[in-house]
Amino acid sequence: MNALAATSRNFRQAARLLGLDSKLEKSLLIPFREIKVECTIPKDDGTLASFVGFRVQHDNARGPMKGGIRYHPEVDPDEVNALAQLMTWKTAVADLPYGGAKGGIGCSPSELSMSELERLTRVFTQKIHDLIGTHTDIPAPDMGTNAQTMAWIFDEYSKFHGHSPAVVTGKPIDLGGSLGRDAATGRGVTYATEALLAEYGKSISGSTVVIQGFGNVGSWAAQLIHARGGKVIAIGDVTGSIRNKAGIDIPALMKHRNEGGHLKDFHGAEVMDSSELLVHECDVLIPCALGGVLNRENAPDVKAKFIIEAANHPTDPEADEILTKKGVIVLPDIYANAGGVIVSYFEWVQNIQGFMWDEQKVNMELHKYMNSAFQHIKAMCRSHDCNLRMGAFTLGVNRVARATLLRGWEA
Ligand code: GLU
Repeated sequence: MNALAATSRNFRQAARLLGLDSKLEKSLLIPFREIKVECTIPKDDGTLASFVGFRVQHDNARGPMKGGIRYHPEVDPDEVNALAQLMTWKTAVADLPYGGAKGGIGCSPSELSMSELERLTRVFTQKIHDLIGTHTDIPAPDMGTNAQTMAWIFDEYSKFHGHSPAVVTGKPIDLGGSLGRDAATGRGVTYATEALLAEYGKSISGSTVVIQGFGNVGSWAAQLIHARGGKVIAIGDVTGSIRNKAGIDIPALMKHRNEGGHLKDFHGAEVMDSSELLVHECDVLIPCALGGVLNRENAPDVKAKFIIEAANHPTDPEADEILTKKGVIVLPDIYANAGGVIVSYFEWVQNIQGFMWDEQKVNMELHKYMNSAFQHIKAMCRSHDCNLRMGAFTLGVNRVARATLLRGWEA
């Protein structure tokens, strides 16, 4: 099932549980605005290259729209649309004063030079600068983009609108980025895992963990889980997968990676088949990479007791049903990976106030937001007799629906 069909299905199920009026349901599903732009740049060799960029602004009932921009060859309008919708529910679950948006450019960032990436980012910003803004729509990093990408957007946008650091989040610290933003998604994933395991009388310490993805989210989650005594027994990324029953030495693996090494060349673990990663024996499975990786083919073989969705929509609805029947507890993306957008919110607040927080305050506030959202999700699970995914969806959708009704439609 494609990402949009899957996300919309979850939304509709939540709308039914909440007893939402069908007209309101329809209006919440349709995106506020969909932007598609052509971005042509001269390559370093002088030839031209054309790319398609998207920004889907899904909903702004609760505040300015918010969400990342991804650079990936598989970016397509339906996927961006689904991810924008997920951002609306995610910001509402975290109780941030935001709506949801997502953007992307269909490109392979690893095949572009730094100067080509800079030109592409600047052209994309020129095409959308009138439609984003500190109080309208605030982009952030996502797959294939990073703090440098945000610096270019901030700089290009400021040429049109004057100095505007709060137009993007996830910026470099030197340009008003927040301390702790880089680690925020992985840290939020760790807090979420702690909160969930505590419900079952368990803790990260002593649990066996498998992580798919060793980029920004996966590497931070691995480090923080390792620091809490969790045993990361297998980890994989696009270059390959490795395992070690006794637990991988994550600080040593980070050193290896930072020196340019691939996972499979790391001496402290054995190479394994990447297709076995998601069905590996473990207590906690954390997919931190692409969407749709858990599907009806591999879900029956999943051995983890808990799945923490650090990636966006890693679990296909068919897999969801299979996992639920098997008694696997799935902590949904719109809560589990909300740490990134929560600290984005802190960055935006700091930029607007012109007052920077220390890292301890950022992490403490993040912890508060993650724990509070978890309590609210659990309350929805109890009152609507549903699983954690529906608990999170009903929480997010209900908050957006309430804001929409309070604002009204009268022209
Ligand atoms: N791209 C991240 C996400 O999917 C962060 C978005 C943001 O910080 O606005 O949640």
